[in-house]
Amino acid sequence: MAIPPYKTPARAGYDIVIVGGAAVGSSIAYWLSQALGASASILVVERDSSYEFSSTALSTSAIRQQYSNPINVKISQFGVEIIRGFPERMAPFFKGEPAPDLGFREHGYLYCCSPEGVEAARARVDLQRSLGAHTVFLEPGPLKERFPWLNVEDLGGGSWGSQEEGWFDSMGLLNGFRRAARASGVEYVDNAVTGLDVAGGKVVAAKLATGQTISSGTLVDAAGPRAQQVAAMAGLSIPVAPYKRYSFVFSSATPIPGRMPNVIDLSGTFVRSEGELFLTGNTPLDDGPADYDDFEMHHEEFDERIWPALWHRIPAFDALRVQASWTGHYEYNMLDHNGIVGFHPEVTNFMFANGFSGHGLQQSPAVGRAVSELIVHGAFQTLDLSPFGYERIPRNEPFLEEAVI
Ligand SMILES: Cc1cc2nc3c(=O)[nH]c(=O)nc-3n(C[C@H](O)[C@H](O)[C@H](O)COP(=O)(O)OP(=O)(O)OC[C@H]3O[C@@H](n4cnc5c(N)ncnc54)[C@H](O)[C@@H]3O)c2cc1C
Repeated sequence: MAIPPYKTPARAGYDIVIVGGAAVGSSIAYWLSQALGASASILVVERDSSYEFSSTALSTSAIRQQYSNPINVKISQFGVEIIRGFPERMAPFFKGEPAPDLGFREHGYLYCCSPEGVEAARARVDLQRSLGAHTVFLEPGPLKERFPWLNVEDLGGGSWGSQEEGWFDSMGLLNGFRRAARASGVEYVDNAVTGLDVAGGKVVAAKLATGQTISSGTLVDAAGPRAQQVAAMAGLSIPVAPYKRYSFVFSSATPIPGRMPNVIDLSGTFVRSEGELFLTGNTPLDDGPADYDDFEMHHEEFDERIWPALWHRIPAFDALRVQASWTGHYEYNMLDHNGIVGFHPEVTNFMFANGFSGHGLQQSPAVGRAVSELIVHGAFQTLDLSPFGYERIPRNEPFLEEAVI
């Protein structure tokens, strides 16, 4: 793995040190910088600023309103607001240059639903609509009418979000937040945090790969799939590990007419358009914690598992050619597939912002704002994200979300 040459931070200590400077770390840095201005010193330590192996860069970058838990719906609604307004929000930090447009493809999501799952799917649609989402439930007839290329024979229907769902540019989001944070006084340093000093129930200093020790007021763990490595440096434990996900881009001899949504099949396989091509993936059969540096590809996942599911659901996908593929890591929360956000109760200046599993990119705007609120005000000011608090982990009380991909 190519790591850029490491550098030394400008100061001996900072009010806030953020470990990890990808989407979540940079969103936190952005919101903190806007809230605190020059009144606080903020350092982001990033071990690989090429971001080559970060979840953010390897993400399939979609956003949806179709969740079963109201908080997740509201978090994504804020995500859409930020994505849509990103060029205007970023403009002051891109003086003289075009501010990043995140290329939001608002094609929607289509969740296929088994006959047995209709009642629960309708309940989720009702909940989402009560919160202002545009999801509708379509029975097989209307579903076929709307999407003639879909095999509905074994379906009880599908829930379709026609607005405020789709996909966008993950690196544009990261780069915008990072640039805005730096322009507002946040320091980014190419280095790795290799240890933490804890005294009197607080992190007092962070050790860097280059040998320096920097004092730290608040320490934020935004290290993605490596979050447990950082937690362990403070003697803490979270059930977050890298889980491999294989993504495949393919061409089809037969095109799919119209705006294709992100289709979530009963098998768990998802597929969406990607320009003239298509993007697909699924949870691998041998799912489980992987080594931090294991990005080996398993092509048989496409041939043996994904392609048969695609062909069944969309019969036009009878002649496909894989054009590109990659392996990325989910920062997987093994307790309940949802983020951990908030301070540790005993190491009281250690802030968690990780474990988002397959939906951390769309949640990064709201999480960044929420973490900033906790640090600046000591309490959430907008969305109350306390159900994502660390306290549920030792209590073994999973946060309940039915719609996990
Ligand atoms: C294949 C795939 C598909 C996905 N699809 C979606 C999707 O459709 N929608 C969605 O919302 N989310 C999706 N996700 C999840 C989403 O991409 C992640 O939840 C999100 O990007 C996490 O961002 P992060 O900044 O926390 O982690 P990362 O992007 O992994 O960043 C963590 C950073 O911390 C750095 N770091 C780690 N340890 C240290 C250390 N000790 N010192 C210094 N730096 C350190 C790393 O180098 C890295 O840059 C997907 C993920 C994958 C892999």
